[in-house]
Amino acid sequence: MDRIDCNVVVVGAGITGISAAYYLCVAHQVRDVVLIDPNPPMSFTSAQSGENYRNWWPHPVMTAFTDDSIDLMEQVARDSDNRLTMTRRGYALATRENPDALIEELHRGYGANSDSSIRIHAGDTSESYHFDPSAGWEGSPDGVDVLRDQDLIRRTFPTYADDVSTVIHIRRAGDISGQQLGQYMLERLRESGGRLITGSVASVDSSDAFLLDVSGHDEIRQIRCEKIVNAAGPFAGGVAEMVGVTLPVTNVFQQKIAFEDRAGVIPRAMPFSIDLDAQIIDWSDEETGLLRQDPETAWLTERMPGAIHCRPDGGEHGRWIKLGWAYEQNPTAVQWEPQVDDHFPEIVLRGASRLIPRLKTYYGALPRQMTHYGGYYTMTDENWPLIGPMGVEGSYVVGALSGFGTMAACAAGSLCAKWVVGDDLPDYAADLSLARYENAPLLAALAEMQSKGVL
Ligand SMILES: Cc1cc2nc3c(=O)[nH]c(=O)nc-3n(C[C@H](O)[C@H](O)[C@H](O)COP(=O)(O)OP(=O)(O)OC[C@H]3O[C@@H](n4cnc5c(N)ncnc54)[C@H](O)[C@@H]3O)c2cc1C
Repeated sequence: MDRIDCNVVVVGAGITGISAAYYLCVAHQVRDVVLIDPNPPMSFTSAQSGENYRNWWPHPVMTAFTDDSIDLMEQVARDSDNRLTMTRRGYALATRENPDALIEELHRGYGANSDSSIRIHAGDTSESYHFDPSAGWEGSPDGVDVLRDQDLIRRTFPTYADDVSTVIHIRRAGDISGQQLGQYMLERLRESGGRLITGSVASVDSSDAFLLDVSGHDEIRQIRCEKIVNAAGPFAGGVAEMVGVTLPVTNVFQQKIAFEDRAGVIPRAMPFSIDLDAQIIDWSDEETGLLRQDPETAWLTERMPGAIHCRPDGGEHGRWIKLGWAYEQNPTAVQWEPQVDDHFPEIVLRGASRLIPRLKTYYGALPRQMTHYGGYYTMTDENWPLIGPMGVEGSYVVGALSGFGTMAACAAGSLCAKWVVGDDLPDYAADLSLARYENAPLLAALAEMQSKGVL
């Protein structure tokens, strides 16, 4: 069998492609859906995710989109006896600076619901704040608690540095197992007749439907399909070029580390904690001198951006912790086996110790079995995804999911499937598609925003 014919081909079996195929097969009962990838499912960017989710965004379109995604993840959690080990301890955003601009941004992001969602706690109103880390995703509140009382902050988050003056606790947020979510969807889509093929799409002839040349599969050399979905993650630009389309996306490499917290410095119930403030990393004078001598490392002694983050990993009885800092801003060429930066573990550790000083225990002494990993944030300039028609009839893209693809996968896949079958679309559909580049007022508003929600 040299060639197969099918209805829809989804290129890429990361979390995004799996989700698009899942919603096509399971929600819309589309027959003859083929998912193709040269690698095992969920093994590229989707294997690098920190697996956190939140409905905190600087713009209501992204808030609505991720809220829909969280609804869909909760549905999977409900249907699967929480196979994806969804938690909901929230995101705790800490700052020492005046939080007025942040609170304003929260109001913009939560849009019409913001007055009822945002609760400020200071002095007398502190008693109304409750955080029960064991409440789980079904028992935790929605909305946002803004803690402006340092005693309350110290009581609730005793490991945070004393100078933190405000904590913004995003309540619809937590973590999931992205791998389990992907596996669950793969199993269901296979039960509904979807197929996974090991192979790489090498070229596409779009003159009559789509004829795909496949490499890396001995039996199947070509696939003919009516519709093609580009879910190739960091390679989405290349796959789009195969049908003659240039996508406005770039790839930025970001890293994380995880290690066993042998000294027990991070409480297991701590929410995903983010230091929002820019900082100069806590190097010793000697280290600063050495770093400054080398032009390659001198930048590490200068002011670094905020948003370093840390959380316990592996549940209440686990001992591992994860640290990340998406400070890289320059796009890069994508490699199948990207090199991590050997300086990163010490950089992220020093940076995170500013919010959680007890992490200093690990200065120069990170456990040897530490995991250091990285992957690409595939991004548009405005850090919004691209989901919808790709410019050639019958072709679609679901990508540019940057650092939010695990949390947004369900809504992205569901939205893409709706575009493919011509179903009713949510209000935000056009804004998340290539059509937004025709919407000058929206682009101008996005260009003016201080934050793009990159984390
Ligand atoms: C360090 C890091 C931390 C992150 N943390 C979070 C987080 O906490 N929360 C969150 O929500 N998101 C997070 N993300 C983002 C999330 O991991 C990604 O947005 C998501 O995994 C992207 O999934 P994808 O399916 O689009 O891409 P991928 O997982 O890269 O999948 C694309 C697939 O396409 C295949 N492919 C490429 N070219 C071809 C071709 N020609 N033919 C066939 N197949 C092809 C590839 O083999 C690959 O398997 C993080 C990302 C990184 C890098």
